[in-house]
Amino acid sequence: MAWEKESIIILVKAAPNWSKKYKKYQICTAGISQDDGWRRLYPFPEKNMIKKDIHVWDIIEVEASKPSDNRRPESRKIKPESIVKRGHLESRRERRDFLDRITEQSLEIPLNERRTMTLIRPSIDAFRIVKRPPEPKQFTLEGKTFKLRPYGDVGLYYRWSCPKSCRYCQERPHVMECFDWGANILYKRYPNEEEAKVKVRHKCYYEMKYENDTWFALGTHSLRPWKRWMIVGLLWMKKQEQSQPLTNFINMAN
Ligand SMILES: [Zn+2]
Repeated sequence: MAWEKESIIILVKAAPNWSKKYKKYQICTAGISQDDGWRRLYPFPEKNMIKKDIHVWDIIEVEASKPSDNRRPESRKIKPESIVKRGHLESRRERRDFLDRITEQSLEIPLNERRTMTLIRPSIDAFRIVKRPPEPKQFTLEGKTFKLRPYGDVGLYYRWSCPKSCRYCQERPHVMECFDWGANILYKRYPNEEEAKVKVRHKCYYEMKYENDTWFALGTHSLRPWKRWMIVGLLWMKKQEQSQPLTNFINMAN
C-alpha cells in the first residue's frame, strides 16, 4: 500500500458512528484535496478529531492511501496519527469563492461519473425531525459501552431539489437524512425536547432556507445499496448583499 502526503481542506464532519472493525467511534470526515478532488478520510477516530482540534475549514496534512476494498473512488485510508493542522480558511470571501468553484448544479453529473461525493446549493422546501426509540447500549469484550449510532434516536430530514433538476428530483423532491455532526449536536444541547425541536427547526430550516446561502455536502452510504445519497455536511453563510449600488456602475462606465 503506497502512502502519500495529501493536503486537504475539511468541509464535512458527520455524526460519529461506532466502528466494529476499529472498536472506536469514527467520524465520517471529508474535504477537498489540493488537486481539487473530494476525499473521504477513514478511519478518523473521534479521539484524534478532538485531540487535534480539527474543525471544518481547517487545512490538514495527512498520510493517505487508496484502499483496494472500497468501491467509493473518493475514499482514502489515512494514518490518523499523521494528521497535522496546517491552517484554517478564515475569510468569508475566500470560503465563498472556494465553495463556488466546487458547487454542482445537480446530482446528475456525479451520478453519471459514478462519484460518491458532491456539493450542491439546494432549494429547500421542508424539514422534519423524527424521533426514534433510543438504541440500547452495547458492551465490547473489554466491558466498554457503546452505541452503534449514538445520535440515531433523532433523525433530521430535508426535502429539497437540485437547482437544475436531476433524474430524481424532476419527478419528486429528494428526501434525505442529514448527518451533519453540528446539527445533530445542537438537538442534544437542550435538555427539554420541545425546546430542542424549536431551536433545531429554526437553525436548520428557517435560517438555512431564508437567512443563509446553504450548501449540502452529499455522500453515499458505504454499505449496499451504496448509491443511496445522504446529507453528510451542512455549510452556510449569511446571504450575500444584493448587487452593488448603481453609482458604482456609473463610475465604472466613466
Ligand atoms: Zn436532484
